[in-house]
Amino acid sequence: MAKKIVLITGGIRGIGEAITHEFLKNGNYLVIALATNAERNRQWLEKQQQAGLIDIDTIACNITDFTECQKVVGELKAKYKKIDVLVNNAGITRDKTLKKMIKEDWDAVIRTDLDSLFNVTQPVLNIMLENCYGRIINISSVNGQKGQFGQTAYAAAKAGMYGFTKSLALETARKNITVNTVSPGYIATDMMKDIPQEILDKLISQIPVARLGKAEEVARLVVFLADELSGYITGADFSINGGLYMS
Ligand code: NDP
Repeated sequence: MAKKIVLITGGIRGIGEAITHEFLKNGNYLVIALATNAERNRQWLEKQQQAGLIDIDTIACNITDFTECQKVVGELKAKYKKIDVLVNNAGITRDKTLKKMIKEDWDAVIRTDLDSLFNVTQPVLNIMLENCYGRIINISSVNGQKGQFGQTAYAAAKAGMYGFTKSLALETARKNITVNTVSPGYIATDMMKDIPQEILDKLISQIPVARLGKAEEVARLVVFLADELSGYITGADFSINGGLYMS
């Protein structure tokens, strides 16, 4: 059977890298990871290949640029004829209170975390519609559900993902395409490294399971949702936050 083709944004670091690895463990997937820097991507790919991973490729693509996304997805279509799974994972934070936030920070977050959903999903969706099959998984955040001090832009973008997901789920339900969100709580990745230790300790003290989550734990859930047998799950959100927020 032909392998399923997975496109994942930000698939070479943090949660995205763990998702890439989880798909590859399964054996039925070929994963294409998008990230920003061609040379860093190349070094990463070399490391993966040295570790024996073969069904894997990476492409430099800035997901804030619609034209670039269209071009990359067009090339993938020409090469593979299909994209079965899309994971919109890439994201950034620029934490500041609204009072102190500069317009560039607001724009960077909205462009990367929300506009990218359109930029990547629209060209991919056209391929999924032609093939009458698709699994789209959008990585949101607990802070899009509950809000967070210093994260107006990030929370707005991540909350926006829910409306996008539910609307697209309705538009694609009869085409065998599912669209869902996964909302992680605090996961130990580079994104957390700028948080001062005392603030991190305070955050952890508020998490019922009393620890940060692991990227691998999020990855398991994403691969579950990408399965053919998950076809009855659509327009849904899955919290994975150690009990931090129960919606
Ligand atoms: P990381 O900062 O570890 O990795 C982010 C990835 O996104 C990188 O691979 C980066 O590419 C890529 N990326 C950023 N901007 C762009 C862009 N313009 N074009 C293409 N790729 C881009 O993040 P995490 O793994 O921590 O987070 C992954 C997702 O999970 C994000 O959406 C985040 O908001 C969400 N999340 C994370 C939580 C956490 O606690 N870590 C909690 C809740 C949600 P490059 O490698 O080239 O820099």
